[in-house]
Amino acid sequence: MSGAPSGPSPYRGRTAVLATKHQKEAVIGPPLSTTLGLALYVPPNLDTDALGTFTGEVPREGPPRSVAVRKARMGMEAAHMSLGLANEGSFGPFPSWPMIPADHEILVFLDDELGLEVVEQWLSPETNFASVAVHPDDADELADFLDRVKFPGHGLIVRPHSGLQEGYLWKGIVDPAVLHDAVARAAMVSQDGLAHVETDMRSHMNPSRQQVLAVLARRLGERLAAACPACGAPGWGLVDVVRGLACESCGAATPLVKAEVFGCARCSHQESNPPAHGLAAASAGDCEWCNP
Ligand SMILES: [Zn+2]
Ligand SMILES: [Zn+2]
Repeated sequence: MSGAPSGPSPYRGRTAVLATKHQKEAVIGPPLSTTLGLALYVPPNLDTDALGTFTGEVPREGPPRSVAVRKARMGMEAAHMSLGLANEGSFGPFPSWPMIPADHEILVFLDDELGLEVVEQWLSPETNFASVAVHPDDADELADFLDRVKFPGHGLIVRPHSGLQEGYLWKGIVDPAVLHDAVARAAMVSQDGLAHVETDMRSHMNPSRQQVLAVLARRLGERLAAACPACGAPGWGLVDVVRGLACESCGAATPLVKAEVFGCARCSHQESNPPAHGLAAASAGDCEWCNP
């Protein structure tokens, strides 16, 4: 964190509630303990699925950030605590390389005593996110897919390819015999005779996602350890980027970042910093005029 003063952690010895039903505390807890001295509490029987599920039985409403904030609030209300955390992940094509899948994780931290809402995000290509429609007799195609998605180290979900049907959804599959049985039964009731097999992205079923979450939790911890230079509140860090780095050849603005904006989660103080890539100018290859 460039230029951020970081003193003793304001959260040492404190406990925050983490709203999760998928054992995320095992992944998010250790980095927050190391960087901040913050402990986590997970309330029992919290139904975060009411805010939406990956498998689509309950659609998620709103952008991931607001879902994460609502989830954190749900935990804080259940536990009557003033510090809360929640994570929300979304999976899809990597923005600049659409052929590569990406894991976009958001971690929200709320502090009602200081009135803080701190959001840290991480976009990683380190994900097995994928799906396939297979015929139960096509053993080769299924075997290729299983290899690619690191089964059985990572869990899978199976349903009929033509759509969800009651009683024909299997989640958290880590056993090859269970998988083959589910594929056969899902295909049998699917209108096109195919089973839809997809990666189970819930964190307890997905070690790749756990690694991304651990990185994100460390970044959040470091950010909360950084104090605002103006008011001293925790959570000083990157809040925006300014694009338009000039082309080295013609001087036109390119899509590359020319400044990083650091800001406070409590007051309106902001500072502009040089970009993390360290470039003084963009190469002609990144310029829409020089390299259309
Ligand atoms: Zn140019
Ligand atoms: Zn401030």
